[in-house]
Amino acid sequence: MNGLLPGDIITRDVCIIGGGASGTYAAIRLHDLGKSIVVVEQNSVLGGQTSTYTDPASGKRTEMGVVAWYNNEIVNNFFARLNVPLKTTDIERAGFTALNSIPVDFRTGELVTDVYSGNVPEGLANYIEQLAKYPYLEDGFDVPYPVPSDLLLPFGEFVEKYNIGGAIRVLYIFGNGMGDFLKQPTLYVFKLVSMESMQAFKAGSFQSTLNHNNQEIYEKAQVELGTDVILNSKVLSADRSGEYAEVHVQTPLGLKCIKAKKLLLTIPPKLENLEGFDLDTNERSLFSQFNNTGYYTAILKNTGIADNTEVRNFGADSPYNVPVLPGPYFLQASGISGLLNVKYCSPHPVSDETAKANIITAVQKLNTAGTLNTTTPEFVAFGSHTPFEMTVSVDAVQSGFYKSLYGLQGLKKTYWTGAAFHAQDSGKLWAFTEKLIPGIIDGL
Ligand SMILES: Cc1cc2nc3c(=O)[nH]c(=O)nc-3n(C[C@H](O)[C@H](O)[C@H](O)COP(=O)(O)OP(=O)(O)OC[C@H]3O[C@@H](n4cnc5c(N)ncnc54)[C@H](O)[C@@H]3O)c2cc1C
Repeated sequence: MNGLLPGDIITRDVCIIGGGASGTYAAIRLHDLGKSIVVVEQNSVLGGQTSTYTDPASGKRTEMGVVAWYNNEIVNNFFARLNVPLKTTDIERAGFTALNSIPVDFRTGELVTDVYSGNVPEGLANYIEQLAKYPYLEDGFDVPYPVPSDLLLPFGEFVEKYNIGGAIRVLYIFGNGMGDFLKQPTLYVFKLVSMESMQAFKAGSFQSTLNHNNQEIYEKAQVELGTDVILNSKVLSADRSGEYAEVHVQTPLGLKCIKAKKLLLTIPPKLENLEGFDLDTNERSLFSQFNNTGYYTAILKNTGIADNTEVRNFGADSPYNVPVLPGPYFLQASGISGLLNVKYCSPHPVSDETAKANIITAVQKLNTAGTLNTTTPEFVAFGSHTPFEMTVSVDAVQSGFYKSLYGLQGLKKTYWTGAAFHAQDSGKLWAFTEKLIPGIIDGL
């Protein structure tokens, strides 16, 4: 690129695009293996969907994104490596299983009476029995062909077929962010509401950070990686045709050219997010097939709702009373006086402004309907986790989409990880990314 000074050229073994869960994990592991790396991240911090809000007045914290991790080797090793202590978390408190709360249909603000209450243990046992038939889903999308037909059923039909209804309220909470839960192919529900998550739920073994700061692991990683992380930066173009992949990046310190022997892309592979990359016809064709939901989280003040109150969305007339989206999943105590946590989902992505306006309307409707004395809330913090839950059509799955997607690994010096390649689950993504490392470091 014309006009670049020698100091603007960064030469590394591996250039990692995206510094969320997968990118940060890869950066630390490759760094520890003695490889030179650089991470390009569009945000001002590492961490992606792990987002901890700190109240400036009290210093207290609440989680707007990731709330809990597994107690397994890969998670524990990563936290130990960064010297971040973990503790077993009260997942009721963390918002996973708040079964006792005010049930409201956020479309109307009205109380929902007679909420469906099936046999939870029986439903869960039936779910787990079915899930156990597909152990390969725990590690990725290596489905057999032809793809088992049950995996392609809309989850609502699968629930009926195998008498899982009693567990819907629990499964639904683990499946937050999936949009129209009962219409999603069962394959995707199994990926998000995985065997590992169900086992951790039953065992009560989920963990969060001892210091009530899930962001801490990413803060520590940032300190370790220092200037090898380029924040607030955007890839303008990438050319993978030569000996080195060349990535041109707009950074706060001007244009930089990264020359890397290997590339690791961890960002959501939507075409609009890969603008400037030299995608070939195959990559373009695969990535163009992804659909996604919109998932937004916020901290609200001045809601008029008491600190200890949780309001949860239930569809008054929907199967199993699952919430009808778009809408908030819940308004929930944040642990900080006067502030409520809200999670909002739309089956299709919407603008941040639309999500915010709809959250305010939903709170106001509680008042209009006479359910709660709410006032017009203000946003203290807002985060978009969109694109969330990236899926392709059942036809594409059957036609070998994931075989082709995984076939991209290593082509053109490029490796791929992140939720679209496995699951919206930090621990599982670390395991998936770990398996890519031998290929990435081969020949470096
Ligand atoms: C509300 C919520 C709660 C969750 N709770 C949990 C939980 O309790 N436990 C759990 O394990 N998982 C949880 N998850 C899921 C988990 O956060 C994700 O699975 C994980 O963060 C995905 O990792 P990733 O690396 O694919 O993407 P991300 O973590 O989203 O990282 C992608 C990174 O790439 C950056 N980026 C995107 N595009 C570009 C670009 N063009 N250029 C440069 N940078 C770019 C983003 O800013 C981001 O930092 C939760 C998610 C949400 C939204």
